[in-house]
Amino acid sequence: MLFHCWAVAPLVTDGNVEGVIFESKEGRFALQAKVTVDCTGDGDIFAGAGAEFESDFDSSSAHARLNTCFRFGNVDMRRFLDFRMIYPDKYRELMNEARQEDEWLTNTAFVTPYDSVALFVTPKFSGYSALSVADLTEVEFRSRDTMRQILAWYRSHMPGFERAWILDSAAQIGTRHSRRLTGVARVDAGAWRNDGSDSASIGLCPGLSTKFPTLEIPYGCMVPQQLENLLAAGRNLSCDITSHAALREIPECWVLGQGAGVAAALAVRQKLRVRDVAIEGIQAELRQQGAIVERTNLGTGPQN
Ligand SMILES: Cc1cc2nc3c(=O)[nH]c(=O)nc-3n(C[C@H](O)[C@H](O)[C@H](O)COP(=O)(O)OP(=O)(O)OC[C@H]3O[C@@H](n4cnc5c(N)ncnc54)[C@H](O)[C@@H]3O)c2cc1C
Repeated sequence: MLFHCWAVAPLVTDGNVEGVIFESKEGRFALQAKVTVDCTGDGDIFAGAGAEFESDFDSSSAHARLNTCFRFGNVDMRRFLDFRMIYPDKYRELMNEARQEDEWLTNTAFVTPYDSVALFVTPKFSGYSALSVADLTEVEFRSRDTMRQILAWYRSHMPGFERAWILDSAAQIGTRHSRRLTGVARVDAGAWRNDGSDSASIGLCPGLSTKFPTLEIPYGCMVPQQLENLLAAGRNLSCDITSHAALREIPECWVLGQGAGVAAALAVRQKLRVRDVAIEGIQAELRQQGAIVERTNLGTGPQN
């Protein structure tokens, strides 16, 4: 386990990914690996290795917007929630006034496990690329400017926020969407319209809405079409834009990460390429670990 180093390039020989080069306080160094799992979210490693990928998102869509989240402390959330619940018209009126002043002021304060802390997962800024350093920098500045603006407005207008202060901002900028691998399998909206089953399933994703079936996530959406010994887990998986809105969510990223870890370990143990590891073996190990792999074992819990 190594923190405080940045993966800058893959080591690739004849289409085999053999590790990653890092930059750090110690300078540049490489780690060789029998299997590399790209969990950068942005597919930095598979893109550098020459894998095909998609990045055809609509930057104005909510699913592609960037922002740095923040929290206010010293809030009286009970007073705020009572105000919203007991006087919904006054709350709406206040928000309308805020909208006249600046659209960002209407960002909603979310509750947290702490009565004195409010969370803001907005404002979401559109038209920026998560792969552009200039854009990322601008979004950091805009997020912080807006955070201070929202604090001033909430302190002077919103019951419960009179004595609030900025508790913290997120450890890193929030990216929802950038690169998606072109894998040997690709989840697309059609899968949701069918029955959602997949014999190569490594885990589940709830339907896009209650009208759609729970989807079984195929192992192949982490396996590149050409490169060897590389997997892409997390939000940089292989899927279409519609499916990405659901598959990028945190529980699905856990499913993909666990599936990739199991597949990588089996590939090393069995001396196989990741694409050649038998899906039955991956599924058996996942079940052994207590994972719910198919819809048929929903609710049965860990199996021994
Ligand atoms: C503001 C916001 C709110 C959200 N709210 C929810 C929610 O309520 N519920 C939900 O389920 N989902 C939510 N999501 C979506 C979800 O959080 C993400 O899609 C998910 O966390 C993605 O996980 P990941 O591990 O694939 O990628 P990331 O969480 O992006 O993690 C990638 C990690 O890799 C690191 N990294 C990147 N490049 C490199 C490199 N070259 N070298 C070294 N390290 C690198 C990054 O620093 C980061 O730590 C939200 C997303 C955002 C942005």
